[in-house]
Amino acid sequence: MALHKEDMTPLSSPASAWTQSKPPLLRFLDTCHAEFGAENSGTVADYIPELSKADPAYFGISLATLDGHVYEVGDSRVPFTIQSMSKPFVFALALDVLGAARVESAIGVEPSGDPFNSIRLNAENHPFNPMVNAGAIACTGLIQECKGEAAFEEIRKALGRFAGRELDVDEAVYTSESQTGDRNRAIAYLLKTNAVIADNVAAVLDVYFRQCAVLVTARDIAVMAATLANRGVNPVTGEQVMTPYAISRTLSVMTSSGMYDYAGEWIYRIGIPAKSGVGGGILAALPARLGLGSYSPNLDKHGNSVRGIKVCEALSSHYDLHMLNRSDDARNAIIADYHIGQSPSRRVRRLGEREILAAHEDEVRVIELVGTLSLSAVDYISRQLAARPRPQLVIFDLHRVTSTTRAGARLVAEAFEELAALSVTVVLSGVQRASREWNALREWTAKLKNVRDFYLLDTAIEWAEDQIVYRYGGAIDFHETTELVEQPLLAGLSEEELTDLGSLCTIRTYQTGQKIVAAGDPADSLFFLRSGAVHVTLPDGVRLATLTAGMAFGEMALLESTRSADVLADMAATAFEVLLKDFERFRQQHPHASERIMRNLAQLLADRLIVANAKVDILTST
Ligand code: GLN
Repeated sequence: MALHKEDMTPLSSPASAWTQSKPPLLRFLDTCHAEFGAENSGTVADYIPELSKADPAYFGISLATLDGHVYEVGDSRVPFTIQSMSKPFVFALALDVLGAARVESAIGVEPSGDPFNSIRLNAENHPFNPMVNAGAIACTGLIQECKGEAAFEEIRKALGRFAGRELDVDEAVYTSESQTGDRNRAIAYLLKTNAVIADNVAAVLDVYFRQCAVLVTARDIAVMAATLANRGVNPVTGEQVMTPYAISRTLSVMTSSGMYDYAGEWIYRIGIPAKSGVGGGILAALPARLGLGSYSPNLDKHGNSVRGIKVCEALSSHYDLHMLNRSDDARNAIIADYHIGQSPSRRVRRLGEREILAAHEDEVRVIELVGTLSLSAVDYISRQLAARPRPQLVIFDLHRVTSTTRAGARLVAEAFEELAALSVTVVLSGVQRASREWNALREWTAKLKNVRDFYLLDTAIEWAEDQIVYRYGGAIDFHETTELVEQPLLAGLSEEELTDLGSLCTIRTYQTGQKIVAAGDPADSLFFLRSGAVHVTLPDGVRLATLTAGMAFGEMALLESTRSADVLADMAATAFEVLLKDFERFRQQHPHASERIMRNLAQLLADRLIVANAKVDILTST
């Protein structure tokens, strides 16, 4: 290809500008850091004496994505104590260790509208929720009750799995709070008199104070938040840290109570489940999207980090991330919907099969899907299916399906059962890449006799075509032996011409898997498949066609001097091989036959082109 002048214009910026350029989300965090770093209102918590030593100048922001990338800006690696941000994680731990019933019998899930250190209990004399101190101490009490002396290690390890690394304790902060934490002590005794925690108040408080003094960084809490946003799978380590059940319940109480007496305002304005700690941290977990962590010690009157709130507000408003401001268009789930007449398999069919398939082309419906199979997507698909006459077989191609929600999987199972009742065969292709929910679905549907699955869509279509041929009385007998007269490429040749051609042919025999023709070899012969089946593939493995007895291959030798594809035997096969030089001689001796053959070849190529165009068309027009 000739190079145009413009192609040679030197680049205006050095290549390094590309590799060093920042992703836009990181630039956004940079801007937040620069802008809100100038905000100096609020004060450092001092009711725990050691916390008053914190330097209010520290400001770190980190954002973890669910594919495991972590953005960091400013003092994102400066350690500080986790404080109340430990509460959601310990709640999740309690749900998984003790079971929801036990935890819910001790701690409520109603917002209190009270500050974090409120001494008020609900009407049953239980803590309002696990996000205020009373509830968190009760939660720690439950773990203590079941794990005894190992309780703190259990909690520290769990926090570490959320963060993706081992976490230490700030001994000075721990000592400082345990010496001065009389208000928490009062809460704990109140819980004890109400039988929410057992006798060992001192031991429970010791675990609680230690848990609050666990050291984290903004980066850590971003990853912890991202794990909450990711149904409990740490996106950096890949570990399933807690069950999805515990995580969704934890996010629920973070939504209603995570920001204490600012919780209502928070969810109204920012709309992202969050939790703050008096150490200056805020973590925010936007389900299925991201985890944010920020560290800045100056707090407002609710005990929430002033700059941290500003970062969350900016992130939510700039990118429109309020969790209740969402929509989805289920109609995007289908990218192509057609019948096999519009896009048949790559199997080259004999006349009898072709006629049956043409008469019943709309009996096999192919629906190609993309993205997430959610409740609304599957519902939409099932209505599209019902909108047209019922086919005998329906193929769902799932190569582009990235995940299946639980609701989507359930609805798919229900739809398949319905199809089974109506005797519609379901054929799936490309299932391998689907989600855990999908695998569960496959187990449920294993008992359904009407579900088949294939890796390739083309194989699925080919199988469905065979079913139609069988059902309408056609036979597909691979072992049947055919003669040259049945070859479409030789259609119209006289008996004498065929006999002459036959005398030039050698009968070859091939074993299953044997390579008959190799791409790149000289194209010096052509073949007429006599029995069995072969397939034509490109060297990169793309299958171009499956041929059965009665069809020619290597016929491109008439036009090209090198083989462009491999041909392999799918099963034991026999073929008539004629050397090109003999064939050319035959053509010279039989000009009429020669003209017929070239016309037949042109027709076969045109047919293939029509099919190829239809396949491209289907994907670009739906
Ligand atoms: N350890 C602190 C306390 O119990 C945690 C409070 C908080 O971070 N809001 O007072």
